[in-house]
Amino acid sequence: MPKTMIEPFRIKSVEPIRMTTREERVRLLEEAKLNVFKLRAEDVLLDWLTDSGTGAMSSAQWAAIMLGDESYAGARSFFRLEAVLKDITGMAHLVPTHQGRAAEKVLFSAVCKQGDVVPNNCHFDTTRANLEFNGVEALDLVIAEGLQPSLIHPFKGNLDLEKLEDLLKKEGHRMPFGMITVTNNTGGGQPVSMANIRAVSALLKKYGKPFIMDVCRFSENAMFIKLREEGYQHKTIKEICQEMFSYADGCTMSAKKDGMVNMGGFIMLRDDRWLDAVRNMLILTEGFPTYGGLAGRDLEALAVGLVEGMDEDYLRYRLRTAEYLGEKLEAIGVGFVKPTGGHAVYLDAKTVLPDMPVEHYPAWSLCNALYLEGGIRGVEIGSVMFGKHLDDGTETYHSMELVRLAFPRRMYTQSHFDFAAEVIADVKANARHIRGVKITKQPKYLRHFTCECEWA
Ligand SMILES: *Cc1c(COP(=O)(O)O)cnc(C)c1O
Repeated sequence: MPKTMIEPFRIKSVEPIRMTTREERVRLLEEAKLNVFKLRAEDVLLDWLTDSGTGAMSSAQWAAIMLGDESYAGARSFFRLEAVLKDITGMAHLVPTHQGRAAEKVLFSAVCKQGDVVPNNCHFDTTRANLEFNGVEALDLVIAEGLQPSLIHPFKGNLDLEKLEDLLKKEGHRMPFGMITVTNNTGGGQPVSMANIRAVSALLKKYGKPFIMDVCRFSENAMFIKLREEGYQHKTIKEICQEMFSYADGCTMSAKKDGMVNMGGFIMLRDDRWLDAVRNMLILTEGFPTYGGLAGRDLEALAVGLVEGMDEDYLRYRLRTAEYLGEKLEAIGVGFVKPTGGHAVYLDAKTVLPDMPVEHYPAWSLCNALYLEGGIRGVEIGSVMFGKHLDDGTETYHSMELVRLAFPRRMYTQSHFDFAAEVIADVKANARHIRGVKITKQPKYLRHFTCECEWA
């Protein structure tokens, strides 16, 4: 076989993208208060802000949309999705929600209380925010390797078992459940090994605690297990997924990731201990139990997408995409989280801007520079996202300054990635001209989405 890995699809419908000039982009970014979240998507050339809900649906998904049953209660589309999810997860109860954070909100407000603590490898930002909003302490217990961007380890998303056992011993009385996120988005899209999932499950069971997985990227995680973990080479992706789910008591998912749809989410629960409380909360905030926050057609598209997302040719190409950009970054000397994760490449801003003080937000500044140089939109995963502005006016900072370039599924081709690598090389070459920022306006939660900045 030739060694070039091609996109395993052909394009049936196209969406033009627009080039802008540098002068335009300077004006547009300043109008957006130096926050790329506030740009109009039309003014972006390569939109790698997120892989969430941004991918291309297949012809089979669009066809399924026409089959949507929009009945208020007991729609056929619910039972179709339920059958697919029962098969993959082995869990009994499907609770559909409009997206991942709604699943989190419904589950946490039904099950957690003020003063609780919930561990995870790394909580995603909405997960952390929804826990903290309920007065719950959200702890990140990823292995030490997972916090070192340049260190190579096959499963940097693994959870530190010693730290978990320590927490269970000391704080078990206030832990309603334990979590793990596959893949570990916040820590670089890094996979969690089957061995680690199994061990976390056993440890939680030993202390009588339920195990909830955040499974936004379960298929990508399964592909990493197939490629990297002894004993899984000859298993199908579906078999690997089934084993992963077999260790959990429940899961939350943003279907906008490996569900291959533009909107959707759900909770699955193995048994009915929390079911009534969860469904009550669902009815209050999302909708009737057989549609949650979704239309019947959304449920249909998701039922097809979950299966397409486990296709091995697709997953091989998907993981190769990030790896390919990583190879180009290596060649130009830009640091990134290694090895590359499933859905994104995380640039290490400290390798491009080693002298910029953290008070000027190096990752945020690199993000701005990528837009100014080539119309690329990424997202800062650093001290704007995870730092905090305290009531006394002081700031806390994040341990890493990363820029995530996240790739929508089945949307961009190899030449887009070649172009991006050239833009990043130009940014690095001109790094001494990159300006830092200061924050002039910010909300209390999730400040990166809406904060306003000025040049520092
Ligand atoms: C996207 C994401 C969520 C939240 O899902 P939304 O659909 O954006 O609300 C939760 N956890 C992880 C790991 C995610 O990647």
